[in-house]
Amino acid sequence: MAIVPSMQSHVQANSLKKLHDPVSGELMTKAVTLIPCGHILNEETVLKCLLHDKLCPVDKQLIEKYTPNYTTRILLESSVLPSPSKDRYINLFISLLDEPQIRGNFNLNVILEDLISELMSQKTSGLTSEQEELCRWAEKLLIEDGKVSLYVARKLAHLHAKL
Ligand SMILES: [Zn+2]
Repeated sequence: MAIVPSMQSHVQANSLKKLHDPVSGELMTKAVTLIPCGHILNEETVLKCLLHDKLCPVDKQLIEKYTPNYTTRILLESSVLPSPSKDRYINLFISLLDEPQIRGNFNLNVILEDLISELMSQKTSGLTSEQEELCRWAEKLLIEDGKVSLYVARKLAHLHAKL
């Protein structure tokens, strides 16, 4: 299973950037998703906006409400761990299933559920190198503003079929 190196590092840098609040630049330990625009910010930044003009600082859309973004929070917590663990991936993928963009995508639901049950069915605490690669790939691609493209869904289905 080959991953194009330049693409991998691009995705890596991108997903690291997503852990920082675009306004304050701080790590989003309390990441929230704005509704309706979908931007992800730290709760502190959002509270300031709500006191100020109630507009999203990124695109100036009116903030109707916001919800906790657990995917970003878990990703942030786990990014300080020395190596990716199986439990961490299981938790991450379970939380991904709750994301509206993924709930609405049948293919991704099936892929994630398969991945979760495969990881959970094994007695060992570690991952095989193929599983680890697949998990890493899934994580980096899926957690991009919580938005999921059909391209990603197809790519994952293809990779999954090879295991
Ligand atoms: Zn916005």
